[in-house]
Amino acid sequence: MTLLTPLEPWIARKIGGADAPLTRSRLEAYQVERICDTLRRCQRSPFYRAHLAGLPGEISGLDELRAFPFTTAEDIRREALRFLCVSQSDIHRVVTLDTSGTTGPPKRLYFTRADQELTIDFFRVGMSTFTDPGDRVLILLPCERPGSVGDLLAVALARLGAEGIRYGVVRDAAEALRVLRRERANGVVGIPVQVLALVRSEPPGGFPALQLKSVLLTTDHVPQAIVRAVERAWGCVVYNHYGMTEMGLGGGVECAARRGYHLREADLYVEIIDPATGAPAAEGEAGEVVFTTLTREGMPLVRYRTGDISRFIPGACPCGTVLKTLERVRYRLDGIVHVNKDHDLTMAHLDEALFSVEGVLDFDATWSAGRDGGALSLCVQVVENAGMLPALEAALRTIPALRGQAVDIRLRAQTHSLPAPAKRTIR
Ligand SMILES: [Zn+2]
Repeated sequence: MTLLTPLEPWIARKIGGADAPLTRSRLEAYQVERICDTLRRCQRSPFYRAHLAGLPGEISGLDELRAFPFTTAEDIRREALRFLCVSQSDIHRVVTLDTSGTTGPPKRLYFTRADQELTIDFFRVGMSTFTDPGDRVLILLPCERPGSVGDLLAVALARLGAEGIRYGVVRDAAEALRVLRRERANGVVGIPVQVLALVRSEPPGGFPALQLKSVLLTTDHVPQAIVRAVERAWGCVVYNHYGMTEMGLGGGVECAARRGYHLREADLYVEIIDPATGAPAAEGEAGEVVFTTLTREGMPLVRYRTGDISRFIPGACPCGTVLKTLERVRYRLDGIVHVNKDHDLTMAHLDEALFSVEGVLDFDATWSAGRDGGALSLCVQVVENAGMLPALEAALRTIPALRGQAVDIRLRAQTHSLPAPAKRTIR
C-alpha cells in the first residue's frame, strides 16, 4: 500500500478542522477565502492597483478568478518593487534570479519573515515523505546566506529531527563525494545535473560503501533518465520536487507513489491554461502552469504564468489523497523549437535521450532553423571522449523530431570541476 502523502494531514490542519477528513470542497472554499484576502492585500501594491483596476475586490468561486489578468516574469522584471504589499523594511529576504539570455533588469522576488516561515514549514512536511528523525541529508543547493533555499531546508530538517548538512552548489564533484562519505549522509537534495555529476564521477559499481536512502531532485523539469541513473548507481529511491522562487521556493513534492507532484494547495492555487488563448485547459489536458499565492505577504502573485507545461493527472493517486497530482513538467514554453509541421523538439526530448547514455554529464543545445527543419548543434560534456560519438548518435536517432535533420556534436571531456548551474534550454 502506498503511504498517504504527509501534505494531506498538514493541509487539513492548515485550513482548520483537522478532525474532519480533507475534502476538495472544503479545500476549495478555503482557497476562495484566501484569494479574497490576497486581492484585498494587493490593494496596497501600486502595481496591482493599476493591474487589477476595475475588477471585483473579491470572488465567490474559483471560476471567477479566470476574469483576472495574468502576471508574468516580465512584469516582475520591470517593476518588482511596485508589487510589494508591505514596506521595504518588512522584507527579510530578496532573491535575485539569473537573467542569462534576457535583457533588462534582473528578476527580484521579495519575502517577509512570515513568507519564509511558510516555506520552511512546507519543506519540513515535504521532506518527511522520505526523511526520518536522525537522518543526515547533504544539501547541494545554495545555502551560504541566511534565508537561501538550502538554509531554509536545513532549518526545516532540524525541525523534523534530521540533520541538514549545508554544502552548497557543487563545483568539484570529487570533493562533494568526499563530504558525502565523510558525513555519512543517507540523503541528498540537489539539482539533477549536479547530482548526476557525482554519480558519474566514479565508475559503475563505485559506490559500495554509500548508505543512501533517498535523493530529492529539485528543478523545473527533472529528466527521468537522471532519476534512473541515480537510483541505479546509489541503490536509493529518488523523489522529485517542483518549485521555483516565485512559488516561495517550494511548490510540490512526490508522494511514495512517485507519479507526479502533490502541491502546497493551502498556499498556492494552481491552474492549467491554454498558453495560446489563456483559457482553462480541459480536465487532464496539458497546458501552462499558472498559480496564485494564497498566503504570501510581501509580494503576492496573482495568476502568475510559469512558462512550464504540465497537466493534472486525472483520477486518484494510489496514496489515496484528495490533493491534485501535477504531472512532472514536460517542457518550458521557452524550451521548445518547431522543427517542421509534424514535430517539435524540446529540452525534455534531448534530456531523456542524452542522459540515458552512460558518461554524459551535461550538454548545451542550439537550434538553427532552416527551410524545412534546421540544424542542431550540441556541445556535450562527457566523462571521457573515447567511444562516445556513436552512442550519442544512436540515442539521438530515438527522437522522431530529429530524423532527417542535421546534428553536429562536439564533445568536451569534463574534469571534476562543474560549471555554475544555469538555466537549461535550447538556444
Ligand atoms: Zn500520492
